Amino acid sequence: MSNTIWVLIELENGQPARSSLEVLGKAAKLGRAEAVVLGAAAAEVAPTLGAYGAEKVYIHADATYDNYLTLPAVDTLSALLNDHQPRLLLLATTYELRDIAARLMVRNNLGLITDATDLAFAGEELQVTVPWGGENVVTATHPHQGTGIVLTRPKAFAVEQFDGRTPEVETLSISINSAAQAIKIVDSVDVASEGPALEDASVIVSGGRGLGKAENFQLVEALAKALQGAPGATRAIVDAGWLPYSYQIGQTGKTVKPTLYVAAGISGAIQHLAGMKGSKYIIAINKDENAPIFSVADLGVIGDALTILPQLTEEVKRRKA
Ligand code: FAD
Repeated sequence: MSNTIWVLIELENGQPARSSLEVLGKAAKLGRAEAVVLGAAAAEVAPTLGAYGAEKVYIHADATYDNYLTLPAVDTLSALLNDHQPRLLLLATTYELRDIAARLMVRNNLGLITDATDLAFAGEELQVTVPWGGENVVTATHPHQGTGIVLTRPKAFAVEQFDGRTPEVETLSISINSAAQAIKIVDSVDVASEGPALEDASVIVSGGRGLGKAENFQLVEALAKALQGAPGATRAIVDAGWLPYSYQIGQTGKTVKPTLYVAAGISGAIQHLAGMKGSKYIIAINKDENAPIFSVADLGVIGDALTILPQLTEEVKRRKA
């Protein structure tokens, strides 16, 4: 088994996804980082990955990976892992990479650790940090031989710069099995949204059940818009059908780290805190002075969110005018 750390780079519109670059930087800090890029744009993307830590890049520039769901990538990676036996394969947690990781685990009989927020070597042993149940953290490792697969949490690592690094590029000669082309992507639709994506926003205004009813979420959206931020939500109001799952922040939703997080009508359950407590400044608005959200807040406002949110929005607009 080699001591290299592989990272599968996800492509978004022909560009490496930021989440994959975060993982590549972490891999390069741990040891010799090698990237795998599959898709029509692989050859153009490969040389740019040196700046993010890759010492070598394996490419297969074939649009099949872009047009069919996960199976072609699983076939290719499964064979590559058997041939090269890297020490680790790291992947960012996205819908597609999660699917690929799970299939590789079963196909190649490998160990998979999910939801990692940090990785380190203690001598020969890999130690992976995994948040557990909101309040606890466990250290996990891969106990058996074979490439260890790790899915890392979004925003767990910063994108690192490695000036002057030029990666060796190896072009794979593989033919993709027609059986892997069973599920074709027929269409993809971008969900129209204003403002920054939740994951990238430096300001997030989130609402919870304390807003009372779905229509009141517009108060959260108005403040988010005035602050050029993004609106987010608790699971309670996503489960209630007020908003789609893409808004959910927390243990089973998105992990965010904005500069400012405003929580309105949110109790502060540990599962919600798990996704936002890394925010730099937290402002909480809640009617109940004993609400747990105040334990992580830098500024706590005890009061009615339905009254305070519009006042805040007006004040922000007034100061900007
Ligand atoms: P509530 O807990 O009902 O809190 C509403 C708050 O609003 C209260 O504190 C109340 O005092 C306040 N309030 C009421 N009226 C007003 C008003 N007019 N103005 C101001 N404040 C007011 N939750 C998540 O958010 N994300 C997750 O990813 C997630 N994953 C989970 C995973 C598991 C396995 C489990 C078991 C639970 C998970 N949950 C998650 C659910 C979590 O436990 C809570 O139930 C949820 O976060 C509560 O949402 P909430 O704060 O909106 O509602």
